[in-house]
Amino acid sequence: MVSLEIKNFGILGYPVGHSLSPQIYKAAFKAAGFTNYSYIHLQVHSAKLYFAVEGLRGLDFRGFNVTIPHKTNILKYLDAIDSDAMVIGAVNTVVNDGGMLTGYNTDVVGILAALAEADFLPEGCNAIILGAGGAARAVLWGLCKKRAECITIGARNPIKAQALANDFLSYGHVEGLDWNSDDFKELMQSADILINTTPLGMFPNVDDMPPIDLKLLPEGALVYDIIYNPAETKLLKTAKELGYPTLNGLSMLLLQGQESYRLFTGQLPNMKVMTKTLDKFLKSNA
Ligand code: NAP
Repeated sequence: MVSLEIKNFGILGYPVGHSLSPQIYKAAFKAAGFTNYSYIHLQVHSAKLYFAVEGLRGLDFRGFNVTIPHKTNILKYLDAIDSDAMVIGAVNTVVNDGGMLTGYNTDVVGILAALAEADFLPEGCNAIILGAGGAARAVLWGLCKKRAECITIGARNPIKAQALANDFLSYGHVEGLDWNSDDFKELMQSADILINTTPLGMFPNVDDMPPIDLKLLPEGALVYDIIYNPAETKLLKTAKELGYPTLNGLSMLLLQGQESYRLFTGQLPNMKVMTKTLDKFLKSNA
């Protein structure tokens, strides 16, 4: 059914021109018959964030996604924050209901749905997270929600890893360590899953990978890299060669997008269209 109702959406960030969200959402809106729905890049400098949020409210945008560097700073300009976004301390989706702006973080839904799709059960698992930035917070919260047994954050900066672990101590058994330490290497030996949340290996630096010894992982441990460009990072290629099962970041990206689309429209998108559009643009970007 074709809808003639006008609704506006966008992605707010700085810089934001590289984001593929406009192409992906527009393709999904078209497939659903939302012919008058628009989705644009909203490039906004940090100093203008408040005015931009008020502008979007005034223009009656139905919703917008939020990316670096505004995911945390935007919280103070919103009227309500969903509980996942509150724990993570970051918002990636804002929905406007008659002038009331609510912030959500759909990365948690994305990561848990991606693990479920890969038949990995986080309940009771021993997990290693590489990196202690924004994405690590969402991954950590997802694993805590599913009651992972023991979560170790390994990073180049152990102070940041420990600080992140401390924020989540009341939700589970979480520890932050230097990824070069003997304690970290020992914990790798009992991991059921290793999740890379650093940008090491991301396009164009495709020859990089986190400086860890994958051979320490037990047989069958899932090596998960949330990077989606390239589809197979050096970390995943190495893991595959060593015989470990692997998962890349494409499903998380698509599934967090699916959840944002649901929050925006109340409907689920055509995932085949979203996947095909993402594939097409990633291939042309590679
Ligand atoms: P972020 O907040 O900047 O955090 C990056 C983390 O990686 C920090 O702990 C940082 O350490 C570490 N790091 C960065 N460069 C490093 C290097 N050269 N050596 C060692 N550690 C390094 O970034 P983010 O938002 O968490 O995003 C991280 C990655 O996740 C990106 O590749 C992004 O594309 C991906 N991501 C994917 C999805 C998806 O849907 N698949 C969603 C979100 C993010 P320091 O603190 O010491 O700098």
